[in-house]
Amino acid sequence: MENTNKKLLEVNNLKTYFYQEDGIVKAVDDISFHIDKGETIGIVGESGCGKSITSLSVLRLVPRNKGKIAGGTIKYYIDGENPIDITALDPRGTEVRKIRGKEIAMIFQEPMTSLHPVFTVGNQIIEVVRLQLGMTKKEARERAIEMLRLVGIASPEQRVDNYPHELSGGMRQRVMIAMALSCDPNLLIADEPTTALDVTIEAQILDLMQDLQNRIGMAIMFITHDLQVIGEMSDRVNVMYAGKIVETGTIDDIYHNSKHPYTQGLLKSIPQIGEKKRLVPIKGTVPNTVDLPSSCYFAPRCEFAMEICHKKEPPDFKVGSEQIAKCWLHKSREEVS
Ligand code: SF4
Repeated sequence: MENTNKKLLEVNNLKTYFYQEDGIVKAVDDISFHIDKGETIGIVGESGCGKSITSLSVLRLVPRNKGKIAGGTIKYYIDGENPIDITALDPRGTEVRKIRGKEIAMIFQEPMTSLHPVFTVGNQIIEVVRLQLGMTKKEARERAIEMLRLVGIASPEQRVDNYPHELSGGMRQRVMIAMALSCDPNLLIADEPTTALDVTIEAQILDLMQDLQNRIGMAIMFITHDLQVIGEMSDRVNVMYAGKIVETGTIDDIYHNSKHPYTQGLLKSIPQIGEKKRLVPIKGTVPNTVDLPSSCYFAPRCEFAMEICHKKEPPDFKVGSEQIAKCWLHKSREEVS
């Protein structure tokens, strides 16, 4: 996979909080990561770990009634040089709308929540490209057909006039990808895009995304609870737990040399091809992130927990050339600020 090593997105100390009657939910709590042009990064964790709120924060789509970005910056480098701080933009303003779709596009787990049931799939793509690229109706229809063909939909000239309910789940996900890529975004955020699909269709969709990435050169931020899927897709992985990134590394670091007990637990809970070992689920559940005490949030579930783990939040420790783990087991290593 080509990696031009040019910075595309840089998230620094992002905090996205929800203000509820019983306290503040720190859905995303002080996370930092970056994505280079053309690369794929994975964000993995159990449901409720903050991975989807991270992606909604990048697009300024956090539900406005109770949630807001409480701190940090999200810098998007349109030309590789001069970044725009997305957190400083009005979430309803034109600048954000120009970034959404044209620069950064998103696909979700369930296409029916994003595809409008009363419009044909063609009209939905046409509307996006007319709005973002200023095409005429005829040009936009041709673009819609071209995009459906690109994502492997047979007879796109006919399918363009279908309604979402006339397509299978796998085809609807392809339409979502076609719609997301119709404006040639530089970054595609894929939030559990294959979770609702059976394994054969999942494999086809993952292949399709990799193929399109190779052809178009976009970067992908791939969000999933499934470390196995991440392994097939990503160059680098961020593992999230209770709103924090607890381990970062290359796919090799994470798969073969993981240093955080939570990541190790996730790995033990996925089936390995050819192995007959019993799967070991991580005991316990992700904590409710309302007013958590200062500690390692994983301590109640961690078999290695020590006294300090219950008293003090671990900082990030550098445990490899590109690998960082937020865990007191590595306190002899260099601390990363
Ligand atoms: Fe386990 Fe302590 Fe490391 Fe947390 S800091 S993961 S409790 S060993």
